[in-house]
Amino acid sequence: MEVCCSVAVPVPGLGLLTYRVPSGVTAPPKGARVVVPLGGRKVTGCVVEPDSAPPAGATLRDLVDVLDEEPFLPPAVVDLALWAGEYYMSGPGGALAVAMPPASRRGRRTSFRTERLVRLAAEPRAAPPRGARQRAALALLAERGGALTARALAAAGIGGGTIRSLVDGGHVESEDAVRERDPFAGAEGSGESHWAVGGETDPARGLTDEQAGVYATLVQAADARAFRTVLINGVTGSGKTELYLRLAAHVMAAGRRVLVLVPEIALTPAAAGLFHARFGRRVAIQHSGLSDGERHDQWHRIRRGEVNLVVGTRSAVFAPLDALGLIVVDEEHESSYKQEDAPRYHGRDVAVMRGRMQGALVVLGSATPSMESSANARAGRYEEARLRRRVLDRPMAATRVVDMRREYAAHGPDVTLSRPLVEAIEARLSRGEQSLVLLNRRGFATVIFCRECGATLECPNCSVTLTFHRAVRRVRCHYCNYATGVPARCGKCRGVFLEQSGFGTERLEADVRARFPGARLARVDRDTIRRRGAIARVLRDVAAGAIDILVGTQMIAKGHDFPAVTLVGVVLADVGLGLADFRASERTFQLLTQVVGRAGRGEIPGEAVIQTLYPDHYSIRAAAAQDYDAFFEQEMAFRAGLEYPPAVALINVVVTGRTADQAMGDAADLVARTRRGPLRGRVIGPAPAPLSKIKGEYRAQFFIKGRERRAMRLALERAVADRPELRRRVAIDVDPISVL
Ligand code: ADP
Ligand code: ZN
Repeated sequence: MEVCCSVAVPVPGLGLLTYRVPSGVTAPPKGARVVVPLGGRKVTGCVVEPDSAPPAGATLRDLVDVLDEEPFLPPAVVDLALWAGEYYMSGPGGALAVAMPPASRRGRRTSFRTERLVRLAAEPRAAPPRGARQRAALALLAERGGALTARALAAAGIGGGTIRSLVDGGHVESEDAVRERDPFAGAEGSGESHWAVGGETDPARGLTDEQAGVYATLVQAADARAFRTVLINGVTGSGKTELYLRLAAHVMAAGRRVLVLVPEIALTPAAAGLFHARFGRRVAIQHSGLSDGERHDQWHRIRRGEVNLVVGTRSAVFAPLDALGLIVVDEEHESSYKQEDAPRYHGRDVAVMRGRMQGALVVLGSATPSMESSANARAGRYEEARLRRRVLDRPMAATRVVDMRREYAAHGPDVTLSRPLVEAIEARLSRGEQSLVLLNRRGFATVIFCRECGATLECPNCSVTLTFHRAVRRVRCHYCNYATGVPARCGKCRGVFLEQSGFGTERLEADVRARFPGARLARVDRDTIRRRGAIARVLRDVAAGAIDILVGTQMIAKGHDFPAVTLVGVVLADVGLGLADFRASERTFQLLTQVVGRAGRGEIPGEAVIQTLYPDHYSIRAAAAQDYDAFFEQEMAFRAGLEYPPAVALINVVVTGRTADQAMGDAADLVARTRRGPLRGRVIGPAPAPLSKIKGEYRAQFFIKGRERRAMRLALERAVADRPELRRRVAIDVDPISVL
């Protein structure tokens, strides 16, 4: 009787494949990596079912190699990845690949860096060695706790010869030990940890009454040792992080493990740093900014069970932890939890499923919960806990909305900083306090147009205008990175009067510098922080008081805790409102609420100035009033009226083509086929996507809306299966975050 196993391979859209285990080879277990033939290639896959029945009548190919005798991925993680592959329609292989550290996906056997460790012998000789060098080495070892690396000994002038003599004489033992590349150790060899932004917190300090109430609920939920999801809706500065830290300690003390997801470690190193500061070596970290080596070592520490707590970004939701008692998703509304290419999974939603599969408590936290999570709480699927006050009863920032139509009327159309904002910054400078100024658009000018014919300068590959970056004297596309020098003439009419309009952070920085020449200024956006560690440096400078005014995009609005920031200014609060995306208002509300929440977190109360052309828009009003419920009600009415999530389930399908006609034609065909399937919902479209061309490819789009995801997926799956040649041109996004 032949032994077969089914294997997931990392090829998008492919289902499970069955292979024969050659006779004489021990059948690999679920979660082991195997090398299998696929067409003319060999690929590394993961065993999903170790003893599957061979499909009738098929001739099976043999496994080429078995890389692991023990499961490489824990079976629970295999199951989670399979669920994600199905739910997000990416197939099983892609999600399993996300669950593995990068090098192991390419089929390498696990490799560790080792180094020689020298330690005093367990039973040392009575007589000391004769050589002076040898005696010096023993003294040094004794002084340093009995063990040192050969490298450290060499640095102290003790070479390999001396060590060999000591080993031969039975005075010391030497062995190769795994050397871990420790991402907490320090940034780029600076010796200074880039996690140490802000201070450590004191675990012994008392909780506020409000915190204590929520904490009691959380402890009770954790002790139930069963799946539950609790949404903590707590205003900025209400002390959510302190609750996560304590709850983590509680769960670990009860012998269970903890997974903490954070949106972007590179942008908010302090969050991960707090866990490391409190729990030290029991913490591992997983995110894409680590080197492959660091990631590999951390992953294997987790897999060996040496770690009780993992902090990581999106993909850490697949971390190989067992005995999981708690999953925390910090800033659960953040869009970076959603992966924008296949598998297009949402880290928060996979986390909730993982909690369900492993019987763990899931805690979602935010000052601006996503519409989805709040709707789930209102429907009773999640429990909700509120923190309505800041710790120590610190007030929320007093917020003022400035109508820029009046400013333009009074001071001309070139004003970037309104009077009230200028005065507020001046006051901060004179008192030695700090200001943040947000503009969520980078570059110097966002449009260059011809005054004679009105044509704008567009990207040749994408349907967007090119942004002028003054520092490099180039115009650049923010979608495909196309860049060129600034033309002297209009490409259409050859006119020479080219004008700039629309300004971004680069121009704002120049204006602020001109207005406040003595101030110490820094700018944070994707143009200024390309290098690894650059943002951490700026954040450290702000924390140390070495910056007076920080200008930047949404990157400065993330969960930073800077007690000396007492003013937040928002320039053009409505930049995001014009986008053809049903989440435009939600994003604007979240961004404004979060950035305003950066002000007044210390002892001095904060102030915020919001500049806008739409002072009456509900997302701006609700953010200024820090009124989450008012926003939720209005937004939910809008979503329900137009049938958008979370009122309905949504799948966004984008079909690309060499021409607009090709993309639209194939999309129309898929729409017709989907409509014939067991849909139980509606298909809307196709239409050219709002970004109708990106990187030279035309994009057509259609939506599937309904209430039963399973039926919607099935109908779409069948439609795509009918046109296998389209597979690489169809991008399916279940529960999309962006539909541009
Ligand atoms: P959030 O995550 O809700 O925005 P944080 O957890 O960052 O809030 O807390 C805001 C600030 O208050 C931090 O500096 C934190 O150290 C401090 N803090 C939290 N809880 C307490 C407490 N019980 N007593 C005093 N300070 C606290
Ligand atoms: Zn482009």
